[in-house]
Amino acid sequence: FDLRNEDLKDLQELGQGNGGSVKKVEHVPTSTIMAKKIVLIDAKPSVRKQILRELQIMHNCNSKFIISFYGAFLADPNICICMEFMDKGSLDGIYKKIGAIDIDIVGKVALAVLEGLTYLYDVHRIIHRDIKPSNILCNSRGDIKICDFGVSGELINSIADTFVGTSTYMSPERIQGAQYTVKSDVWSLGISLIELALGRFPFSESESDDSDLSDFESTLSPARPGSMGSIAALSLPKSRKDKAKKDKRKSKGVSLQGGGMTMSILELLQHIVNEPAPRLTPEGRYPPEAERFVDNCLLKDPDMRKTPKDLLTHEWIKQARASKVDLEGWASTF
Ligand code: ATP
Ligand code: MG
Repeated sequence: FDLRNEDLKDLQELGQGNGGSVKKVEHVPTSTIMAKKIVLIDAKPSVRKQILRELQIMHNCNSKFIISFYGAFLADPNICICMEFMDKGSLDGIYKKIGAIDIDIVGKVALAVLEGLTYLYDVHRIIHRDIKPSNILCNSRGDIKICDFGVSGELINSIADTFVGTSTYMSPERIQGAQYTVKSDVWSLGISLIELALGRFPFSESESDDSDLSDFESTLSPARPGSMGSIAALSLPKSRKDKAKKDKRKSKGVSLQGGGMTMSILELLQHIVNEPAPRLTPEGRYPPEAERFVDNCLLKDPDMRKTPKDLLTHEWIKQARASKVDLEGWASTF
């Protein structure tokens, strides 16, 4: 593909993230449907060109667990990245639509992500750096693939300071400034799997009071308006009733309110560092192998945590590999 912006016809808005927005487009000369990610970058022309060069590595990323890449180009002041369109969207959108995802399906997700991460690292020495449900995509064939991995160091640098809002999937060692390793992606995978299985973001308290939890989720989910979206949604009170609930949360240790935006995200980060890691709960609801797998992902000490490759031989992942669960059938239900 020799991609030019003029050849791409906008079809639909797919979503907005911290780094930019994504549109469904048609490459008119070839009638190919693609997803076009538009990233606004405040960088010198030389840096932009460097980013573009670095992105070309994605041409060599060929795995059925990785979104394929059509190409990237500059459309000042943006960089456009064209990739495979996944018609069922991302897992965050899916669980928000259909509710908690069946643990057998979550097992297939874990397998796909581990395969994708292992491929990226073993073949290209790429660490993903942004594993979360919105970066795990599905299509109606039942494929599960990861996207938005950190191929370009310069791109990471250029949008780094807008990344605070997504830091809730960040491992304790990353929050404390340690170097990124493949094991940090494993932590993010653990958090993501709990989120999918529970149907809510795991950094909240009791699972007994469901109404409170869904309310908690609703304060999290509308986060996408701007670069600080997630933080704003975490901390801006909507009503007095919300405030009362947030005070209740505060008393249980997870403050989502704080004095200001920075404070509340800091408190959440402190919670990740200082409190025990979340688990698949309530105990007994999920297969013990799944519980153990998630516990393994969420070992707070990165030296104890396994790599994606090691985890591919975990009992739960072996079961997921052998499982005959019908992903295509599942994807046809939404
Ligand atoms: P963040 O910016 O914090 O990483 P995000 O992943 O939600 O958040 P984007 O990467 O900009 O933000 O993606 C926005 C949305 O577009 C995603 O949530 C996903 O639903 C959708 N999307 C992204 N890539 C594709 C794709 N290749 N096919 C279909 N939908 C996609
Ligand atoms: Mg994304």
